[in-house]
Amino acid sequence: MSKLPPIAFVSRGDAASEASWIATLSEAMPQENIVAFSALSGEDKRRVEIAIVANPNPADIAELTGLKWVHSLWAGVERLVAELGAGAPPLVRLVDPELSRVMAEAVLAWTYYLQRDMPAYRKQQQRKIWEELEYRHPSEMTVGLIGLGELGTASVRKLKEAGFNVIGWSRSLKSISGIDTVSADDGLSTLLRKSDIVVCLVPLTAETRGLLNSTRIAEMKHGASIINFARGPIIVADDLLGALNSGHLSHAVLDVFDVEPPPQTSPFWDRENVTVLPHISGPTSPASSARIVAANIRDWRATGKLPVTVDMQRGY
Ligand code: NAP
Repeated sequence: MSKLPPIAFVSRGDAASEASWIATLSEAMPQENIVAFSALSGEDKRRVEIAIVANPNPADIAELTGLKWVHSLWAGVERLVAELGAGAPPLVRLVDPELSRVMAEAVLAWTYYLQRDMPAYRKQQQRKIWEELEYRHPSEMTVGLIGLGELGTASVRKLKEAGFNVIGWSRSLKSISGIDTVSADDGLSTLLRKSDIVVCLVPLTAETRGLLNSTRIAEMKHGASIINFARGPIIVADDLLGALNSGHLSHAVLDVFDVEPPPQTSPFWDRENVTVLPHISGPTSPASSARIVAANIRDWRATGKLPVTVDMQRGY
């Protein structure tokens, strides 16, 4: 067995998923001894320097008193940030080109779904209506990306390649070839006014919670659509429903919700102008994420340097 302290695997998943993750991670870093939190001895808990986590119980993390850093297996870390708090050890989130590719693919797929009027053709079929709708070329449409991080940047590139006009909003102004970029409050207004489809890919933070409320939605083009692949609470659900009811917005593709799964009574389930997806737009690939985590751990063991860590104050 390795002389290195064990790495703790901490999750709220079931035993089978925990065993499967530990097997995949161990294969990617055979020199390391990765142990489920529940199997760590008291001595191990004091020696552990690294925790690999997937929705961990914060009380378990607190028991690892020698912890130097935490690696999340997810890209979105708002829950961890809230639960671990400002005094937590440095937190590294998953940044995986394969995840970016998969998310960009989803953004393009659901953009095509809207551009090619699939919701309208579905409604026509249900009513046995045979009618051609006017074709809109991608170059006649603008897609606005809220968030130009790892996932947003991969997505705008894919949309641009497909011929859409693309505009993107981020906190710091970006420069991405062929893409209109904006920042700040007025930049968001510009994006909302110009876009036929708005795609949400910002992290959930104190600043982005409720970002798209009735005032912001009112800035959107009449008949525009929205795709939320980020987190439910970024859009105020009642305000979105109001805009869908009034016809101001024509369709919403929602992969994320305030509560997941949404309760059976949620009005989103039954609406023709809402597509409900079960949080599938950007699944973590175990094999690829294990390789990324292994490389980060290897680098840290060799150099003591961590990859970019989450800014706990900013929340992402
Ligand atoms: P990221 O690399 O941290 O990028 C976040 C982007 O949002 C950055 O461009 C950032 O601006 C911008 N941003 C953050 N707060 C802002 C604010 N207040 N005003 C303006 N822009 C702001 O994150 P990512 O890896 O692309 O992931 C984005 C989110 O996708 C995750 O947080 C997660 O919630 C979600 N996600 C969903 C799924 C799914 O299956 N549905 C899967 C994975 C991830 P700067 O560039 O200036 O910092």
